[in-house]
Amino acid sequence: MPNCGEFSDDKPKEECGVFGIFGHPKAAELTYLGLRALQHRGQESAGIVASDRTTFHHHCGMGLVTVVFDEETLSKLKGNIAVGHNRYSTSGDSNLENAQPLICQYKRGPLAIAHNGNLVNAPRIRSDLEDAGSIFRGTSDTEVIAHLLARSQQTYLEDRILDALKEVRGAYSILFMGKSLLIAARDPHGFRPLWLGRLGDAYVLASETCAFDVIEAKAIREIAPGELIIITSTDREPESFHFHPALPHLSQCIFEYIYLARPDSVIFGELVNRPRREFGRQLARESPADADIVIPVPDSATLAALGYSEESGIPFEMGLYRNSFVGRSFMNPSKEMRELMVKVKLNPLPDVLEGKRVIVVDDSIMRGPTSRKFVKLIRQGGATEVHIRIASPPNKFPCFYGVDTPTRKELIASSHTIEEIRKYIRADSLGYLTIEGMLKCMKSPKDFCTACFDGNYPVEFSGQPTTQLPLNF
Ligand code: SF4
Repeated sequence: MPNCGEFSDDKPKEECGVFGIFGHPKAAELTYLGLRALQHRGQESAGIVASDRTTFHHHCGMGLVTVVFDEETLSKLKGNIAVGHNRYSTSGDSNLENAQPLICQYKRGPLAIAHNGNLVNAPRIRSDLEDAGSIFRGTSDTEVIAHLLARSQQTYLEDRILDALKEVRGAYSILFMGKSLLIAARDPHGFRPLWLGRLGDAYVLASETCAFDVIEAKAIREIAPGELIIITSTDREPESFHFHPALPHLSQCIFEYIYLARPDSVIFGELVNRPRREFGRQLARESPADADIVIPVPDSATLAALGYSEESGIPFEMGLYRNSFVGRSFMNPSKEMRELMVKVKLNPLPDVLEGKRVIVVDDSIMRGPTSRKFVKLIRQGGATEVHIRIASPPNKFPCFYGVDTPTRKELIASSHTIEEIRKYIRADSLGYLTIEGMLKCMKSPKDFCTACFDGNYPVEFSGQPTTQLPLNF
């Protein structure tokens, strides 16, 4: 999966992962395991808040889940309700103040919030609230929701939450934990996934079903876009409210299928494995190449490369070895060191590549230099031709709904033709999946956001980049 150090620096960064559990004596330990399964959705910070129905117990820190928690910290998180969060900062700075779950105190007690997504009108609401005297602790947009619900005049927490959600626009799959209840909500557009499951009598909630598999919980259903559910007892079904009328079309993030979600997760109604592989098949139909082998950029493009190989009949091989034990580098290396570090993370296999015409399937190109390094590596491995095939359309626009992408200026496809990009990365040929081809792979093509490819942002906001920007061709 993602996070292959230097190579993953040119990938969109996963947003965040959320996990919640209600009514289990080992709530914190199970949340820890759920967060480990969701680690690919955020590696900058992790946190768990547990409630023993009187007091909250919490721990969070910077880094991977295994770094932040140990047996001792987990043993202090007492209670049978818990929420957890893995963060990659898509809004707000990357520091401990912005780590989640966010804990706040409102009129009726403590509240913990774990949010996946990005609110496009958070800066305006925040500025209005600050003008009215509110003081913010960090810079994350989730704090805006906390302030809005604290200001609501409603008596019950769920009504306060509904008041707050009426104000915000954008992407949210969000969990709220009170002393003795758990609430989940998903934005009306359905940008980010969110699931409800059951483990024995306990209820569980998670961004992806892979977090249920790890604790052997049973997936019940996805929280519907515009739905809020309230869990107050293990003896009855969660209460469900549809706080927004169903929209004619959803805007589920298609990048979840391209790269972000785990292939063994079910999201937006199907196992990620199927569309991810189908993108590769469609790419082979749209952009064939005369070659001896198909190799993936490991690991995220492996399924698309398999699909390409199946459709084209060209044998699939692993031509690059990825060292999965390399974490992030905090060094500031010299140019020479940087070149060498590339090989610490990915190394070509000469016995696979020697004398071969190679099709290399990757999931996306953001800035370009990383793809150029791949081409160089594969040639160093002995390939006679390198044909790059990308299992998604050219990324021309940034995401404002919770995925960290480079700015429009940095995205190579926003200002260069495919031929210019090919020349830059020094490939023999370059082909992308078309937007039409990508949507053809989907069971309900109208229910997906494609803004990072076509600039059609489904939720408008001020400062939105226009599709009419003059491009520097
Ligand atoms: S802009 Fe792209 S990454 Fe962002 S939500 Fe839409 S499809 Fe996903």
